[in-house]
Amino acid sequence: MKIAGFEKNTLLDYPGKVASIIFTYGCNLRCPYCHNPELVIHPCLKENLYSEDYILDYLKHREGLIDALVITGGEPTLQSDLIPFIKRVKELGILVKLDTNGTLDDIVEDIMKQDIVDYWAMDIKYPSEYFKEYELDSKSVKHTIKMIMNSGKEYEFRTTYVKGIHSIEDAKSIGKMIKGAKNYYIQNFRKGKTIDPKLNESNSFTEKELEEIKKIVSPYVNKVKIR
Ligand code: SF4
Repeated sequence: MKIAGFEKNTLLDYPGKVASIIFTYGCNLRCPYCHNPELVIHPCLKENLYSEDYILDYLKHREGLIDALVITGGEPTLQSDLIPFIKRVKELGILVKLDTNGTLDDIVEDIMKQDIVDYWAMDIKYPSEYFKEYELDSKSVKHTIKMIMNSGKEYEFRTTYVKGIHSIEDAKSIGKMIKGAKNYYIQNFRKGKTIDPKLNESNSFTEKELEEIKKIVSPYVNKVKIR
């Protein structure tokens, strides 16, 4: 596992739980609005990586204090030793939340067969009309959505809406892709370090526009929240 970032405690990333977060290095996408360019386009510096043992030791010594480990990235499903690592975390009695862009459906399927993830979080990056432009395989993404919805596990879908990349109307197409889903989160773009340095505050939607997005997607999913 290439673990390039570690946050010891958070109350924000696993609903209702105290969690630690690890950030894996590498991603198969290049979203212009990505806030983690150091995990995606910058070189991976060996000296900045955390060992699996370091993370597992930390969790072990905080038994009863940390409920869960959130594995995010980058794209964690690119890590060839992800399954054995999650198994080691589960042996400690820790819940696991896995964040994914859903493009590597075969790997998601392998992980699901092991029944080792307690909470799935998938980014719905774009409506399916954009897939060709962003070189996304529509079949893989749709397959992952279906598997997550049928997994019997806790899950959420979310989209970061970026003005200039997404339109308000995209919410309808995204809603159709996740029709019947339990939870969907609308996230506004916030300026900061991004893969495309030209993105700025003008790429954020207004509160009113976010409410409009919420209204459009609401008929398709059970719960929608702006966060
Ligand atoms: S936003 Fe996520 S999927 Fe997109 S490039 Fe960054 S890490 Fe990869």
